[in-house]
Amino acid sequence: MTLTERDKKVIWHPFTQQKNMLPPIPITKGINSLLIDEDGNEYIDAISSWWVTLHGHSNTYIAEKLYQQALQLEQVIFAGFTHKPAITLAEKLLSILPGVFSKIFYSDNGSTSTEVALKMAIQYWWNKQENGNKTTQYARNKILAFNNSYHGDTFGAMSVSDRSVFTLAFHNLLFEVIFIDTPTEENIEAIQLTIQQHANEIAAFIYEPLVQGAGGIKMYNAQLLNKILSTVKEHHIICIADEVMTGFGRTGKLFASEYITIKPDIICLSKGLTGGTMALGVTACTADIYNAYVTDDKLKTFFHGHSFTANPLACTTALASLDLLLNEECLNKIKWINDKNILFANILLQSKNNTIKNIRTLGTIVAFEIVKGKDEYLNNISTTITQKAMQMGVYIRPLGNTVYIMPPYCITENELEKVYAVILKIIE
Ligand SMILES: *Cc1c(COP(=O)(O)O)cnc(C)c1O
Repeated sequence: MTLTERDKKVIWHPFTQQKNMLPPIPITKGINSLLIDEDGNEYIDAISSWWVTLHGHSNTYIAEKLYQQALQLEQVIFAGFTHKPAITLAEKLLSILPGVFSKIFYSDNGSTSTEVALKMAIQYWWNKQENGNKTTQYARNKILAFNNSYHGDTFGAMSVSDRSVFTLAFHNLLFEVIFIDTPTEENIEAIQLTIQQHANEIAAFIYEPLVQGAGGIKMYNAQLLNKILSTVKEHHIICIADEVMTGFGRTGKLFASEYITIKPDIICLSKGLTGGTMALGVTACTADIYNAYVTDDKLKTFFHGHSFTANPLACTTALASLDLLLNEECLNKIKWINDKNILFANILLQSKNNTIKNIRTLGTIVAFEIVKGKDEYLNNISTTITQKAMQMGVYIRPLGNTVYIMPPYCITENELEKVYAVILKIIE
């Protein structure tokens, strides 16, 4: 049996209708920006394997650090024990994060990082209540979130995400959330009013700063987000920046929150955290939030953890990835991709091609919509485009009719030009 046949017998793939599913392509090697299949075909990974890969596949520097750590300590329970990779990574992150953060809480992926953030924020208000009145006294427990948002696939994360085809089967089980639109010059005042009206029941506001990823790579304005954050802060609502996708250089700065004056109280990280090598989640919080949990009252403990919390191998790959990312060479490379993308977006604009619309770019991301069928995730054009691009040696995976690229930072000039050329060919 071939790998594809064996796969079909035993595997259920994520985000994929299994009926009449196109056979998945067995990848046998990854090197830098390239994925290489069984038959030796090469594909440029123009979406960084679901937005995680920063320094290319099978990076030797990261692999070497991982191997050395695996020989030293692969895993240890993180209650009652600690280790150097977790401590060093926390120190390093606290020194580069946008805002004044005090503590790092580890988990396993993006969904757990937002799940932790929500629980941390809600229990903050619960902990702040007077002792003895826990069941009767009102504590803020509502979450404010954007329409069209995506914060992950676990139940809390789903609840604060847009009610969409992703969550349809679960709508009556998701907790109630106050949803607002992303800001424009026209709606900003109405949004601020909504926030004011609900302020004393809102525990926290969760947002993907500047780019809504899975919701269709939708971009919105930093100054207007700042206005929302300013209203939110006035009412002492906890600000949770979900930088799971935008973190680690994607938007051209190390973190998207650097574009915004008002900094978050909690920040969620995953995806690029380990350079895409291993699964790891981080939720960082301010001293004020942490201190609400530091008390003689055992009931005010944060009762949350995962078997693999702060896995030493994952922390080690994160440290290795940061070594590479914070190097001037890589930061210049991000800038270079940013500049190339602006040129490419201009070419798209000037082509006046009426099969595409909403051309936009920020940092290493470029996106636009294909004018065909509905603007939705279930638009079939996605599969057609992926297949066409693959035949030409480029891997992209549109979100419905939203075509985008988000390449690894190690992409070469020839490779990036090829990605652009393939996209131009497809829209012709
Ligand atoms: C991908 C993503 C998540 C979920 O991360 P997983 O690791 O896939 O669970 C959460 N928030 C944002 C903004 C994301 O892009």
